[in-house]
Amino acid sequence: KVRVRFAPSPTGGLHLGGVRTVLYNYLFARQHGGDFILRIEDTDQTRFVPGAEEYIFQCLAWAGLEPDESVKQGGDYGPYRQSERKELYRAYAEQLVEKGQAYYAFDTPEELEQMRQDFKTEQNPSPQYDYQVRNKMRNSLTLSKEETDRLLKENTRHVIRIKMPENESIGFTDMIRGAVSFNTSLVDDKVLLKADGMPTYHLAVVVDDYLMKISHAFRGEEWLPSAPVHILLWKYLFGLENMPQWAHFPLILGPSGKLSKRDGAKYGFPVFAMNWTDPKTGELTEGFKEKGFLPEAFINLLAVLGWNDGTEQELFSLDELISRFSIDRVHSSGAKFDYEKAKWYNHEWIKKLAPEELTARVKDVLAARGLVVSDDPLLLKVVQLVKDRASLLTDFYDQTAYFFKTPENMDLAAIQPKWNEVKQLFFAEVIRNYELTGDWKAETLENNFKEIAAANQLKPGEVMLPLRIMLVGGKFGPHVFDIAEILGKAETIKRIQHTLG
Ligand code: GLU
Repeated sequence: KVRVRFAPSPTGGLHLGGVRTVLYNYLFARQHGGDFILRIEDTDQTRFVPGAEEYIFQCLAWAGLEPDESVKQGGDYGPYRQSERKELYRAYAEQLVEKGQAYYAFDTPEELEQMRQDFKTEQNPSPQYDYQVRNKMRNSLTLSKEETDRLLKENTRHVIRIKMPENESIGFTDMIRGAVSFNTSLVDDKVLLKADGMPTYHLAVVVDDYLMKISHAFRGEEWLPSAPVHILLWKYLFGLENMPQWAHFPLILGPSGKLSKRDGAKYGFPVFAMNWTDPKTGELTEGFKEKGFLPEAFINLLAVLGWNDGTEQELFSLDELISRFSIDRVHSSGAKFDYEKAKWYNHEWIKKLAPEELTARVKDVLAARGLVVSDDPLLLKVVQLVKDRASLLTDFYDQTAYFFKTPENMDLAAIQPKWNEVKQLFFAEVIRNYELTGDWKAETLENNFKEIAAANQLKPGEVMLPLRIMLVGGKFGPHVFDIAEILGKAETIKRIQHTLG
């Protein structure tokens, strides 16, 4: 059975690359009638950040990519939080030590620091604890059995490290990259069990993928260098039996290299799924949700960041993605994030969404800015009228607020210099005419307006912009007589009158 997992460490906000990993996992699971598991990898207690786990759940709920098994949903393979599985891992690490595939290391932080000094060369400025170094260190490979036992009995602080073989080739088949291989001499003896008894990520990820019967392990390319350690652990612990198939997704690139939080701040676009405030520093990183993205658009733009279906189609619903997605069409090279293109997707989805659905979302956005609209049919009409002008949901505030309240900051400067008595008289006449207009329709209003302009030897262009500013407050918005129609007679006249003073 297909079982996939997303395994975040709850150390902060969720980057769009993380959500893309979730998405590809989710699509693959749905496509194969499989299970999508969310596992919290919180074994590094020094990096624990309060609120980060809850935040991940909120992001997935917003994106509509909820797991089948997790800390929240439960499931047959729990607990789904690694810190609650702590006791389980030690036995695996000990088993490796017994077989000579791992060893106890007693080196103190000072000794490790000394090692880094002693082994430093020009070619190797930051030496690692590896096959060249381990023979000179204080571990169960260099100490006698008696000495090791004594140290263990005295509860001397120690870790368990994997013993990487020297100069062997270790490989696997990546579903995206094909055959990948590494020389083991280039990989250090990673810690598997830490001094506090917690496993490191490397041990925990392998043990849990095994125990949770994960069939496919998909993750970001940044984990590719760790793959040899994981493959070796699979070999040592489980004889490679039922090892998941691996796929490493391409990096998401920003304007300069790997897309980072800093790019977001610098260029003013969101990089996290939802707003995230670092509890320590108070620093806010913007999210796609609050920026005004529809989850439908967010998912769509993430899906195509590193994948296409081989056709020209750009817009995909989640259901379409479930049927069309395929791992072998995921690119192996980095995918460039383009914020303008991201907004284009959102704009397309704004137009694609059912009118009632879009209106409901806009209503929430307006309410969040303090504009509570109770006339739903009116809002529906207004949203339909202006939706071509919005690429973010948040744009709807400026685009619709003037329908519900008199504009506050009127861009009078745009009309005042050209203001003169003729125009004053003209608008006074428009008011008189509109007061008598029974058929309050855009077309009638426009015809009457133009006739009066002609009678006063004014070009419609000269008076149309002033009218727009009177009604809207600025030089934007849809056809001005459509606006007048929706505003209604009383409000339209009131706004014109108000500016005439
Ligand atoms: N805990 C790792 C992370 O934070 C998971 C990597 C993996 O999926 O193996 O991304």
